[in-house]
This record gives sequence, structure tokens and C-alpha cells, in this order.
Amino acid sequence: MPPPHHLFSCWDEVAERLRSAPAIALFLDFDGTLSPLCPRPEDVRLSGATRSIVATLARNPRIRAWVISGRRRADVRERSRIAGVQYLGLHGWEGRQEVSIKEESRRLLECLKDCARRMVERTPETWLEDKGLVVAIHHANASPAGVTRMREEIARALLPLNGSFRGIAGERTFELAPAEMGDKGTAVRHQLALAGRAALPVFVGDDAVDEPAFAALTGGITIRVGRPGHTRAHFRLAGVKQVRVFLERLNREIGY
Ligand SMILES: [Mg+2]
Repeated sequence: MPPPHHLFSCWDEVAERLRSAPAIALFLDFDGTLSPLCPRPEDVRLSGATRSIVATLARNPRIRAWVISGRRRADVRERSRIAGVQYLGLHGWEGRQEVSIKEESRRLLECLKDCARRMVERTPETWLEDKGLVVAIHHANASPAGVTRMREEIARALLPLNGSFRGIAGERTFELAPAEMGDKGTAVRHQLALAGRAALPVFVGDDAVDEPAFAALTGGITIRVGRPGHTRAHFRLAGVKQVRVFLERLNREIGY
């Protein structure tokens, strides 16, 4: 699949779709999309300018806005503090909690956490984040060989669990989560069904964990942030600054 076109090189066509849509469902990832990445997730901050433009968009009666993140919902809400948006944490599972997690999955999760802890101890430049129902191994600075070895080990650990757990491979993390939690694709489908009216979905994300949402929204406007590469998204943007420019353009197209 060729890399997608840069969003701004197709702007006239995109702007026309945005202007003519009866409503827009705007899904924004947080880390690497609204905010620049930091080596430690606790250091990531949202700029005032980005907070302000997303809040402006969320006040528009034609727009419904979500921030959807792999972080816990309380964490991403506290970091964002944008009036008028809905927050979806743990890739969207926190936000549709009628899906309960089986007792068996919770028990297995504790075993997987022990396994992940041992793996991290053996692999330099990796660290473990316990997000409750999800465990994340951060490996942004680890050697490619170390990451490959770890992924193989995780795959072996997951094999006997018959699909009851999923490995979620991001660019900088590897996460383990109960399969019933779903992914960002499950989450956006659910939110669009709840919203109940015909809205043009727009999804902006920077990571492999955003790909299920791109795949779920083939009729929408999907944008992958970062280096051009393999993606299901229709368009790309180079980085966080261009995301803000896009949000400002969106506001100009459909402002009051
Ligand atoms: Mg991200």
C-alpha cells in the first residue's frame, strides 16, 4: 500500500467534505497527536494553543469531540482539561464499561504481569507500566533485537491463552489486555452507534494502536501523524504542530 497523501495537499477536497457534512465526529488521540511525545508519559503536557482550539471546536454544535487514549481515562482527562470533550481511556474501553471483564481474565492478567515484569528486568532500557486491566511494556529506547526477543516471548506466553488476551504492539510500547476490552476500532464504532445521527467521522492518531480505528472508519477522514509509512489511514500529517494547524483549518471551514 503506498503511503497516504499529505492532508494539506488534498485540502480543497477534504474541506468540501467537512463543510457539507451534517455533523462531524472528531476523534483525537492524545500522545504524539495532540501533545509531543516525551520519554516518560508523566512528563507529557498539552499546549495552551491546542487546548484552546479543541475547546473551540467542541463548542461548535456540528461537532462532537472525543479524546481517545491508551492512558487511563482519569489521567488523560487531567492532562487535557478541555471543556466539552468526552474522554475514552484504555484504547476506548473506559467509556463503554457495560463490557465487563471476566474473573478468569483478571486472574490470567496477574500471571501475565509477573511474566512481563521478569521480561523487563532482563531487557535493558525497558520499563513496565501497570494500568490496572492493561499492562504496558515501554521500549522506545531498547535495542531492536531486545524488542524482537521480548515480542517473541510475549507471543509464546499468549499462545496457550487461546485468544483471551491480546498483545497490542505500538511504536513505543507493547501492551497486554483482555481480548474483551476491544481496541480503538471497537471504541469508535460503539461511540458512533451511540451518537445515533449521521456524522462524518474524523480520526487523528500517530501509532500502530490507532490503525484499528482507521480500518473501522473507511468512509471517514482518517489521518496518521508521523513518518510516512504503512497505514490504513487516508491521509498523513508530519507532527503535532501540523495537527494543530489542521484543527485551526477545520474551525475556519465550519466555524459559526
Ligand atoms: Mg498516540
